[in-house]
Amino acid sequence: PDSVPRKQSLRLPPDSTLETFDAAITALQHQIGRSNVVLNDKPLVDGWYLEHPNTHDAFHIVDQEDLVASAVAYPGSTEEVQKIVRWANEYLIPLWPISMGRNLGYGGAAPRVPGSVVVDLGKRMNRILDLDEGNASCVVEPGVSYFDLYDEIQKRKLPLWIDCPDLGGGSVLGNAVDRGVGYTPMGDHFANHCGMEIVLPTGELLRTGMGALPGRNETNNPTWQSFQAAYGPYTDGIFSQSNFGIVVQMGFWLMRETGHQSYMFTFPREEDFPNIVEAIRPLAQSRVLGNIPQLRHVVQELNVTGLPKTHWYSGNGPIPRDIIREHAARLPMGECSWVFYGTQYGDPASIDSQLNIIKSTFSRIPGMKFFLPKDVPETHYLHSRAKVCAGIPVLRELDWLNWKPNAAHLFFSPITPTRAADAQTIHAINTRLHAKHAFDLFPTLCIAGREMHYITNIIFDRASADEKRRANALMRDLIAEAAKEGYGEYRTHVLYADQVAATYCWGGNALMRFNETIKDALDPRGVLAPGRNGIWPQRYRGKGWEI
Ligand code: ADP
Repeated sequence: PDSVPRKQSLRLPPDSTLETFDAAITALQHQIGRSNVVLNDKPLVDGWYLEHPNTHDAFHIVDQEDLVASAVAYPGSTEEVQKIVRWANEYLIPLWPISMGRNLGYGGAAPRVPGSVVVDLGKRMNRILDLDEGNASCVVEPGVSYFDLYDEIQKRKLPLWIDCPDLGGGSVLGNAVDRGVGYTPMGDHFANHCGMEIVLPTGELLRTGMGALPGRNETNNPTWQSFQAAYGPYTDGIFSQSNFGIVVQMGFWLMRETGHQSYMFTFPREEDFPNIVEAIRPLAQSRVLGNIPQLRHVVQELNVTGLPKTHWYSGNGPIPRDIIREHAARLPMGECSWVFYGTQYGDPASIDSQLNIIKSTFSRIPGMKFFLPKDVPETHYLHSRAKVCAGIPVLRELDWLNWKPNAAHLFFSPITPTRAADAQTIHAINTRLHAKHAFDLFPTLCIAGREMHYITNIIFDRASADEKRRANALMRDLIAEAAKEGYGEYRTHVLYADQVAATYCWGGNALMRFNETIKDALDPRGVLAPGRNGIWPQRYRGKGWEI
């Protein structure tokens, strides 16, 4: 699909003409430099993970040209971000801020309103502003990736760990404001942030947490990265998954390096899924499990080899269960249905005693087997999990994209209680609807003591209009049916933001009305990321934007 001529050469912002838009772009170029404002009028190139576009969604689920920027602006400083925001207020042009735009599966860099100006913060604002060994914390700008932060810590030989998600190329700050997760004990990225600097939709600057108290040194409160809340309401939360501000700096706590041991359990019977979930709950609640472990269906063992689907199955439609089991039997871990990936932390003696508790808990499930990394070949996925769970960024998960030609993916990410009955309900919904729309079901569960993220990765061929249509229909059905059972998504692709937001409708949409009140107060001209997370500014409401 790359480099085909555009149907429309330039997508203008809503209510603009070529003349008004031209004048606006020229004005912005005067303010932040000609080369820092680039029109999106060339053919769209999907690229790949490390050369991802900032002009549209590389994993387009609708037409490639549907969710596109009119232009991309590259601020080099907080002052330039403020200039861009004031400019947008003057010309009524919607902005869509991204840190790096590698939010693949959730929309990438794509703006919700076609013709928005994407503000690519990451290209020029990519400094690590502070790295404090004693306090085990850092302050970063939007363009610092997990690889960047990791490399800097290695270069300075600091005894610190970062926490990264499955893929290490994204922005530390961008992932945290979108409430992404990783896999060390500090895997909840937003919960482990400390202090933010934010450009508000009208251009004012705000510091949250202890940074609101200037102290002797206007620029750096000594406790800014030590204590999360300041005095009064805890403001930070409203700047996550929202369109209330552009985050230009953010502090994070880092983990002190420690001993660690990754491992894997396999379970043979498909139907033991709810029993495995029940076994994990007390281990997680008592914190014997030090991080958020993953439970995966064995079909992913085929997928993470990086071999295409056709290597395993030549039929049409989803791979049947018996074929999956047959192939799994020939892989290092042998025949099984579910695979549990865990990591224990601490000194060798405590790791040993934790592992004994875990083994005895899982031994209640018939046929379970236990593996250490040394038990499986170097190429096995367990080695890559071991790295991620020790805060070492990797790119292994990209192998998923070999599954199909032109592969793109979309995540469905509902939250359910960690309980057998709920596990069964959500798994049944997923199984039934994936079969209905003829997609392979790839369940990965991130299981904590009280809730679990049941994440499915819908892999589709972006050159096939039929697959896109079916993937879209699958997603719409999944959101609706999960909501009926009381399960909501923790995050979703920009296209489903309205549908997901509308499922959180308790009290006559009390939550959305509250969000809209804040939105209208902070962004009266409605320029910042209209439609993000289903929040539309007044200027857009009731005009048919919601989908
Ligand atoms: P990644 O870290 O994966 O590259 P993105 O930069 O794509 O993440 O960020 C994910 C989403 O979070 C973006 O689409 C945008 O809506 C929002 N976002 C990212 N960075 C910022 C920021 N600095 N300020 C406000 N919102 C942001």
